[in-house]
Amino acid sequence: MSVRDPAAQVADRLAALRQHQQDGRRSPHKPLLVLLALGRLARTGESSLPWDDAEQDLADLIQEFGPPSKTGRAQSAAYPFTRLRSDGVWTLDRDVPMDNVGPLRQGVTGRLEASLEAALRARPALVDEVARGLVEAHFPATVAPDVLVAVGLDPELLRGGTVEFIPGRRRSSSWPAQVLEAWDRQCAFCGFDGQVGGVPVGLEAAHIRWFTVDGPDHLDNGLALCSLHHKLFDRGVLGLDDDLTVVVSQRFSARTPHGRAVYDLHGQRLRPRPGTPAPAERHLVWHREQVFHGRPLAA
Ligand SMILES: [Zn+2]
Repeated sequence: MSVRDPAAQVADRLAALRQHQQDGRRSPHKPLLVLLALGRLARTGESSLPWDDAEQDLADLIQEFGPPSKTGRAQSAAYPFTRLRSDGVWTLDRDVPMDNVGPLRQGVTGRLEASLEAALRARPALVDEVARGLVEAHFPATVAPDVLVAVGLDPELLRGGTVEFIPGRRRSSSWPAQVLEAWDRQCAFCGFDGQVGGVPVGLEAAHIRWFTVDGPDHLDNGLALCSLHHKLFDRGVLGLDDDLTVVVSQRFSARTPHGRAVYDLHGQRLRPRPGTPAPAERHLVWHREQVFHGRPLAA
């Protein structure tokens, strides 16, 4: 790729936002703001985002897809809305101090930096590429489509070919099969063990600590989970206590008996088969602090 290639230039400018976190703390706030702006750009041809909208939409995204946090909604949105300026990819139409909600409420509007926005507008396929790179660097495949839908982008863009996932890290190709074997080809939560022609179906190897945040391809970081429980685990609805008891978040609701069957998992104890490495406590702690949302149901 030549230095003048606009795609490479755009990717370079957003590269800092794709770096994964060395200390294991998830910080998807800036990427979520960029994704929200990309969604607006794709929909309206303009990335501009008035603070009045961001205070709702960005706060919703951070609450839903960020790590659990005690920071107030408006404040959690004000951090990336003001700080993304330092990365050179975001501008505000008024000079306001970092992190302060008050001045933003005087009608401040943000948008992607002008030359970046022009490059993206000139090549709509670039919007998809950038969005895919950001969402894949920060979320597992169970969650990435939900993020794209929430920002108004098409989750099908994830099918657009292989992208560089995370620089310097490759997934182990044998890890998923090893995890399924270790858990006797059953969902660790519900025992689902469906097979087609002797091959497990609807059963997946789940990282406890996400691969995108330094989660290793080790057996003590893996659970065999059915597709539904994998999704709920990665979305922070299901969690695990130190004694391997399943916890269900009180944020989850369902009306039908099948939906409500999720509640029945609460308090169930995982029983790894003899010889299966139990999930490591440090990975369980990470999941509890960075993914599990809300409070556990009352026992
Ligand atoms: Zn299951």
